[in-house]
Amino acid sequence: MTFRTVTILGATGSIGASTLDVIARHPQRYRVHALSAHTRMELLAAQAAASQAAVVVVPDEEARQRFVDSWQGRARLPEVRVGAQALAETAADPASDTVMAAIVGAAGLPSALAAARAGKRVLLANKEALVVAGRLFMDAVRQSGAELLPIDSEHNAIFQCLPHGTRASGAQQPAPGVRRLLLTASGGPFRTRPLEELAGVTPDQACAHPNWSMGRKISVDSATMLNKGLEVIEAHWLFAMPPERIDVVIHPQSVVHSMVEYDDGSVLAQLGQPDMRTPIAYGLAFPERIASGVGALDLARLGRLDFEAPDLARFPCLRLAFEALRAGQGACVALNAANEVAVEAFLQGAAPYTAIAAIIDTVLQGQTQAGSRLDSLEGLLDLDREARARAREALQRPAGRAAH
Ligand code: NAD
Ligand code: MG
Repeated sequence: MTFRTVTILGATGSIGASTLDVIARHPQRYRVHALSAHTRMELLAAQAAASQAAVVVVPDEEARQRFVDSWQGRARLPEVRVGAQALAETAADPASDTVMAAIVGAAGLPSALAAARAGKRVLLANKEALVVAGRLFMDAVRQSGAELLPIDSEHNAIFQCLPHGTRASGAQQPAPGVRRLLLTASGGPFRTRPLEELAGVTPDQACAHPNWSMGRKISVDSATMLNKGLEVIEAHWLFAMPPERIDVVIHPQSVVHSMVEYDDGSVLAQLGQPDMRTPIAYGLAFPERIASGVGALDLARLGRLDFEAPDLARFPCLRLAFEALRAGQGACVALNAANEVAVEAFLQGAAPYTAIAAIIDTVLQGQTQAGSRLDSLEGLLDLDREARARAREALQRPAGRAAH
């Protein structure tokens, strides 16, 4: 058993809370070093108190004040660090060996990359980091000797189904004998909804995922299936797999979390209840297994598992993600940035659901040459800012507001 000291970036989110839940079950194995949050300082204070975190990281002075106010009445205030620079430094802090990267969006890239560069065990939930900076991130993992463990349930499943010896380091070629990766997708809340109704769906309907309880951004991504598109790109980088050897299959029950197909026709799958504590516990304890709090899978009660091909007319975002992956890293940055802007506008009630795919399409079409900017974090963040500006412009045009 290895004793681990853990930092959780994005502690107040859905993944962050599940990580703290697993850790609390094993006080003899894990200690929490640092927690970060962007909002919800009261929750962060409660989490820091319960986990006895030594450090918290908050975005600005105002948040620091709210954290300190929320701490009132408790003993020993943790060290409070402020700002994006402090967040990246905390990710690389020698006081912890394991970093859960669970910030949502490209905002999580600098800190996740800092953890990778510092050679940590990186538990990667923040898929956007690989979408925006796949090559840079994987190079950092290889150079520093970081141990990269995917937490996204599909990639965690694939990781579990791959042959031993090809794991946890940052592969440069597909594992030997592997023919295809099969990513499962639930199809989200709108899998069977009449297409003409999609323009009028609300943020709450989009966030009501049939199987998983998640943050609002990834819930909308699941509804559009852009989430699966991001995961195809994530799988491409994690497992060095070309796009034509990554397939998506709809599986409404979310019990088979993904599969690996081998040259001999074998298909290995990982199954379990749809609860992120399973992949989180796997990543924390790898290569051992620990209790996660997730109950047993009752297949007899479940009765059946269904599979179908995704309908690209219903889910244009999935097609756009495959196109971006084939076009290259610059297009993937644009895809992710446009999606973050469009999803935020949809969640704010400022754009219809159907504008999300339209905005991504427009931004991808206006894509310019990225050149050497793909080679550095600063360059990638620059491209990300440009794509966001183009997405905001597109939102102002009538098409962005269509069918409102
Ligand atoms: P969430 O919205 O519930 O939580 C996000 C966390 O990030 C919060 O702690 C928030 O304070 C912090 N945060 C938000 N914006 C920030 C910013 N600009 N700077 C710093 N911190 C910021 O999100 P989630 O559902 O927990 O997802 C987190 C990540 O994990 C996402 O990348 C998501 O795609 C991925 N993921 C989530 C699930 C899931 O079941 N929730 C499954 C697979 C992958
Ligand atoms: Mg997933």
